[in-house]
Amino acid sequence: MTSNASSSSLSRPRRVLLKISGESFCPENDRGVSMDSVNHLAAQIVDVAQSGVQIAVVMGGGNILRGAQFKAANSSIQEATAHYMGMLATVINGLALQDAIEAQGQPTRLMTALPMDVVAEPYIRRRAQRHLEKGRVVILAGGTGSPFVTTDTAAAQRALELEADVILKATKVDGIYSEDPKKNPNATFYSELTYEDAIRQNLRVMDSEAFAKCAEHNMPIMVFNFREPDNFKKAVQGEHVGTIVRSAKN
Ligand code: UDP
Repeated sequence: MTSNASSSSLSRPRRVLLKISGESFCPENDRGVSMDSVNHLAAQIVDVAQSGVQIAVVMGGGNILRGAQFKAANSSIQEATAHYMGMLATVINGLALQDAIEAQGQPTRLMTALPMDVVAEPYIRRRAQRHLEKGRVVILAGGTGSPFVTTDTAAAQRALELEADVILKATKVDGIYSEDPKKNPNATFYSELTYEDAIRQNLRVMDSEAFAKCAEHNMPIMVFNFREPDNFKKAVQGEHVGTIVRSAKN
């Protein structure tokens, strides 16, 4: 079920879908946008983009607002409204990431699933593909444009339609454990899992809908710690960092 062999790494991807949670945009236990954190992420993205790997980033928004949590704390808001607020939060993050990446000399395009012509291009699949082919980092904000799901679903959806080789899910932990390692220091770390293992053990890799979509289409997912310098670069160079989830056949 698990393996630590470096031979189990992914072959070098040509195009990756990087899913960044909003929590990477601020220090631990904080909220909002800290440009120090964003610049740190941007530097890693620029480094990889300049090595020739095509990068589409799906931006989260949890550092600002998550729809389900906001609804739970505020009975006067409709749940759909809260989710749209969450989608707008991802646009705020996307704008910050765009400037941070471009300040480091790398061209980008910000595309939103919710049309917002004054600040970003609308998401059009074929246009996004052209941007990627031209070496621009494509930042995808606004999630799927539909409420009641999270940006994990957007990541699965965009990875499939943009024909990414892998979803790289950047988190604040080293990968997937049998339990929360903060609550149980003896939790088992998995360096490799099949989709079936993850489902059988009820391990939350992504939202269940997003995960099912990846499993159905055999889209590999690598979960890794973005706070460790060079992890992103190592992952695209074919090194095994974090946890890889994929079909047993690969
Ligand atoms: N959201 C949505 N539809 C989408 C993507 C996101 O309604 O397609 C909303 C949802 O409320 C979500 C919020 O936007 O909680 C912010 O996204 P997410 O929670 O995925 O951010 P992350 O946890 O990755 O920072």
